[in-house]
Amino acid sequence: MKNSYENHEVFLGEKNYKIFFGQNILENCNSVFKNYVFGEKIIVVYDSSLEKNHLSRLMTSLDGFNTNLIKVKSGEKSKSFYSLNILLNQILSLGVTRNTILVAFGGGVIGDLVGFAASILLRGVKYIQIPSTLLAQVDSSVGGKTAIDTPQGKNLVGAFYQPRLVLADLTTLDTLPLRQILAGYAEVIKYGLINNPDFFEWCETNGSDLINGDLGLRAHAVEKSCFIKAQVVARDEREAGLRALLNLGHTFGHAFEVEVGFGKKLLHGEAVAMGTIAAFEFSQRLGLCSGQDVVRIREHFRAVGLPIDISSVVTKKWTTDKLIHHMGKDKKTEGDNLTFILARGIGQAYIETDVPAEALRVLLSDLLLT
Ligand code: NAD
Repeated sequence: MKNSYENHEVFLGEKNYKIFFGQNILENCNSVFKNYVFGEKIIVVYDSSLEKNHLSRLMTSLDGFNTNLIKVKSGEKSKSFYSLNILLNQILSLGVTRNTILVAFGGGVIGDLVGFAASILLRGVKYIQIPSTLLAQVDSSVGGKTAIDTPQGKNLVGAFYQPRLVLADLTTLDTLPLRQILAGYAEVIKYGLINNPDFFEWCETNGSDLINGDLGLRAHAVEKSCFIKAQVVARDEREAGLRALLNLGHTFGHAFEVEVGFGKKLLHGEAVAMGTIAAFEFSQRLGLCSGQDVVRIREHFRAVGLPIDISSVVTKKWTTDKLIHHMGKDKKTEGDNLTFILARGIGQAYIETDVPAEALRVLLSDLLLT
């Protein structure tokens, strides 16, 4: 891969923005920033884990801009009212105007937190995403969903608020632990499973090398994922319909996450991986897709080292009732009916608003027993 970068555009009318991805974007981002920042104050909010290897790469490049720094502790706990309150106070103390630009430098946690802060500060200030995890580069930094978690559930307080720019430097992934790369890869596979069977096949061929660090393959995965996501978001920014497809595996996955408690025991991407398998098994039981599809997906997950079964995290406290209760609290549900993303095959996901409750109960109790 050459030492340069490519870009894609998310088309959202007046809110269009570019996604740049490639190598060493951090070192070169001043040239991109020059097109977006004209003397305004920049506040870079960064994940504490980036301090050692990446922060100076970015800040050296931003030398000459009016920059301020705020550190946020790494981890899902930072997506809370408590952290938001501290962050807003820190930003306000620095002095903020409508022209101030926030920069979210980190993974999905920082992106969601800073994006939400940007949406409510002075009723909205601009923000730029510089995603540093695979999950954030292929998913969370694009599309403008911002949120924090509450004790009642994940992402329950937030806003649709698009960034002005996304800069994904693939070399930040060099320091990302394998487990986090895998968690991000679960979201990459998702795009193939939703509506792009050829991309799933590409994942089957290239997934292991991508995970092991091949930059060219990572670039392709980021490009393809952002392209598919941008297309969906452009057609349905506020998830009135089509965008819900991107939640494949998430209704199950969120229920698992709530039950485990957010944190290192079960990463978001791992929960999505287990939830994706559950969604395809459910689809198979309902006669929608073939058993062969389920076997193929399970085999690919197993081959790359993604978790498949919830047995590794289930405890005796888990019950089908509790899982269904969590699913009912998921934002993707409507009224009393549970809405799921199911599939008629690989690359043929669809939104099912009338899920047979008894079949769901049987599936969940089988999952808990295995
Ligand atoms: P994360 O932000 O917690 O990052 C994962 C871990 O990697 C953290 O410990 C972090 O400190 C560390 N890290 C970050 N960059 C690093 C780097 N370059 N090198 C070494 N370590 C690094 O988690 P994530 O997986 O990026 O994001 C998960 C969050 O994203 C969840 O809160 C989820 O709800 C959210 N999400 C949002 C959307 C959306 O559309 N807004 C989509 C998917 C997920």
